[in-house]
Amino acid sequence: MTNKIGWNLDNSYARLPKAFYTSHTPEPVEFPKLAILNEPLAAALGLDVEALQGEEGQAFFAGNKVPEGASPLAQAYAGHQFGNFTMLGDGRAVLLGEQITPEGERFDIQLKGPGRTPYSRGGDGRAALGPMLREYIISEAMHALGIPTTRSLAVVTTGEAVIRETHLPGAILTRVASSHLRVGTFQYAAAREAVEELKDLADYAIKRHYPHIEADENRYLSLLKEVIKRQAALIAKWQLVGFIHGVMNTDNMTISGETIDYGPCAFMDTYDPATVFSSIDTQGRYAYGNQPGIGGWNLARFAESLLPLIHEKQEQAVEMAQGAISEYPKLYQQNWLGGMRAKLGLFNEETQDESLIKDLLDLMKKHRADFTNTFRSLTFGKTEGTELFGSPEFAKWHDQWQERLGRQEETKESSQELMRNSNPAVIPRNHRVEAALEAAVTEGNYSVMEKLLDVLSRPYAHAPEQAEYTTLPAPSTLPYRTYC
Ligand code: AMP
Ligand code: MG
Ligand code: MG
Repeated sequence: MTNKIGWNLDNSYARLPKAFYTSHTPEPVEFPKLAILNEPLAAALGLDVEALQGEEGQAFFAGNKVPEGASPLAQAYAGHQFGNFTMLGDGRAVLLGEQITPEGERFDIQLKGPGRTPYSRGGDGRAALGPMLREYIISEAMHALGIPTTRSLAVVTTGEAVIRETHLPGAILTRVASSHLRVGTFQYAAAREAVEELKDLADYAIKRHYPHIEADENRYLSLLKEVIKRQAALIAKWQLVGFIHGVMNTDNMTISGETIDYGPCAFMDTYDPATVFSSIDTQGRYAYGNQPGIGGWNLARFAESLLPLIHEKQEQAVEMAQGAISEYPKLYQQNWLGGMRAKLGLFNEETQDESLIKDLLDLMKKHRADFTNTFRSLTFGKTEGTELFGSPEFAKWHDQWQERLGRQEETKESSQELMRNSNPAVIPRNHRVEAALEAAVTEGNYSVMEKLLDVLSRPYAHAPEQAEYTTLPAPSTLPYRTYC
């Protein structure tokens, strides 16, 4: 280690053709102050926690000082935003470089909110403290739930105000990702009609995320298939915990299969496939129940951008790509069904399982049951005290489920064990997240957030002290709304 902090940065992305980025050093901010540091993550990255907490660490997280070995840059990309194709890029993010961990893994270190870049268009390039802490909480909760995701290393306040509807305290989030390659990065290359650049990008993505397909006969078709596999698995995991991303634009879909861009996302309380939280998603394009289908739509855009690499004859390329894309619904369904079986304690497979699951979900919707708590109650056999559990229809369903459990070799105990590990006790409930942000942003009191983060770090512990985090918000006349 040649520096106190432990930076060990490479800049492989900067070795791609120049069109993929613009070198850019962030503008220093006035008064950086560390708001929160993810100590276990820092340690896993090979960074010195104590040094990061000092003045130098704050300067790095604020963009005031560039780490040794960094080549800061803003990435170029494009994307379908709510269905409309746009040329984009990091308008409020700067990639410092890729930290090589003591284990030899490679992670992007990115500042989110460090001011304008060449891709900022009309934006100020800045971020407010509330939304950056929100990303911190939810991304770390997702990680603890076992869902692939970018992670949050730190948030600093900048001492500067950002102007939204009102003046808000400014902040910068340091985001860690296995890469920031997006479907939109490929769309960007394809839109430029520069096949060599596209090929460089695809080879880079393969090397970084799918090295096992490098020697495949048609590695670009393999790349498409691998990304389809990862995204099918990812989106199934979202559905299984009631996570609503909120802005599944193609620029917000990664090649690595990690969840990215925690803007208007939120967890569903009451089960309803039509649930939407984002204030700008007026058509419900990204509603809970639409997420799997939108995943397929986005992957089709990815496939289109890869066509020139898949086969030199377009007709054949299209046929091959369509073959790969047509696997997606099946892959998604397999992942989802497998996950739902586990949520109900089922080890073996029966063809009627799908209708057993669908019947439960239909009843949950009809009786406005809480998604997370319903499965938690089923796990512990505490099916009482809600409209759903009191209904005769549920009693009938429960009998069928018990019979079904009886048709497998595993014991009741191992079934319950499976359910405990598949049904989280705690998710980042909206009212809890809001309370944590309120205390942190308006009072500078981070204790509420720290306690919440601690509880969320063990979602499957089902520990007694977590019970208070499983309660529902007081009924509200207004629906919960999120903003980008
Ligand atoms: P998102 O909806 O978060 O995926 O962002 C879409 C695009 O808008 C991306 O290119 C962002 O970099 C850009 N963007 C978001 N917020 C800002 C901002 N405050 N200033 C400049 N660009 C922004
Ligand atoms: Mg984005
Ligand atoms: Mg965003």
